[in-house]
Amino acid sequence: MPETLSYKSRFGSTKKSPELLAKAHDAALDGSPKLASNSYLEVRFPRINRNQIGKENATLVMLARNLDLEGALKSMRLLEDRFNRHYRYPWVFMNEVPFDDDFIEHTSLMASGKTYYELIPDEDWEPPAFIDENKLQHNLRTAEANGVIYGGLRSYRNMCHFNSGHFYKQKKLLEFEWYFRVEPDVEYMCDFQYDPFTLLRKNGKKYGFVIAIQEYEDTIPTLWETVEEFMEKYPQYLHPNNALNFITSHETSLNLGIPLVGQNKYNLCHFWSNFEIGNLDFFRGEAYEAYFNHLDQAGGFYYERWGDAPVHTISLSLLLDKNEIHHFDDIGYYHPPYMACPASLDVRASKRCICQARDLEDKMSRMSIDVDYYSCLSRWWRYGSGKRFLNEI
Ligand code: GDP
Ligand code: MN
Repeated sequence: MPETLSYKSRFGSTKKSPELLAKAHDAALDGSPKLASNSYLEVRFPRINRNQIGKENATLVMLARNLDLEGALKSMRLLEDRFNRHYRYPWVFMNEVPFDDDFIEHTSLMASGKTYYELIPDEDWEPPAFIDENKLQHNLRTAEANGVIYGGLRSYRNMCHFNSGHFYKQKKLLEFEWYFRVEPDVEYMCDFQYDPFTLLRKNGKKYGFVIAIQEYEDTIPTLWETVEEFMEKYPQYLHPNNALNFITSHETSLNLGIPLVGQNKYNLCHFWSNFEIGNLDFFRGEAYEAYFNHLDQAGGFYYERWGDAPVHTISLSLLLDKNEIHHFDDIGYYHPPYMACPASLDVRASKRCICQARDLEDKMSRMSIDVDYYSCLSRWWRYGSGKRFLNEI
């Protein structure tokens, strides 16, 4: 694609023609992703070397609206400085409406690698045809009235549905094996000092998380029963060494002999999916496909407000070997209102961590979520893949 945008001058050097520049610009504006991506950058900023250094077939990925630009740039700045400028992995931005000129130009300049802008097709964003619009409208109003977090927002349901069943099928992402999900307005508190994609691949991991906490129960009233139906219908997909015990609780109180949290029911623990580093082929595989379709048909993405975090977590916990999931202890991360920072002072010092989030007034932002009551991390150590460092400090 880029070669069609340049021509050889009489002296043999490569020039960009004004017509082609205009064409690239238009392509960027009308959201034509292929042309907008490579060409726009090469034409506008030809001297920046954007060749990838990192060895993995991987990309950073961000779902965002045009109005998220400032927050997107803040997240990018930190992730580029702390990690990606040493590797120059590309960025894929996704949106259900075309990104505007400002968004494309500023994110392209912030990125060290190539940037791609994907327009999400309507059928991957809007509710599936079998969703009853009247029932959806009614349930949005009830959820809003009942104070369910993000309960009244149709767009939020589209977003969670997309992140659960469609992001990994977007055209550009088909080219990659690994993704690193980034959200606007997050912070990375420490230098990475290694390539997390390589770390996962070399250690036979499929997915990595930083924060594990409990979900709001009123967003997922019938999720677990739907998962139970899935398990009954497709026992062949359950991994023999799965992490079912991480997401279900059967401990009883010592004194009373009563269950602490449900009885073999989902305990609401989930990997906080605003940070994810994972293998796209897991989501594109047969087992996840069956799982997502089963959940989708049940309608809970729209009639309730199922989040992509519990949906991802339950699938990972059931379909993978628990040892294929990695907790990154050493990546400091903040997404309001929670921060996780390495507990070890040595790690914090050597990775130049700043374990204080922007929002200093917020007490939660200064405390690592790992020691909070809502954290599921100790449960992951007990019932997941244990606690160990994979990287060298
Ligand atoms: P929270 O993390 O659950 O509080 O939800 P956010 O508001 O941060 O949204 C999660 C991600 O989806 C972020 O990357 C947002 O930029 C993105 N997002 C949320 N709603 C929309 C939307 O309507 N359109 C697009 N394109 N992105 C959205
Ligand atoms: Mn967010």
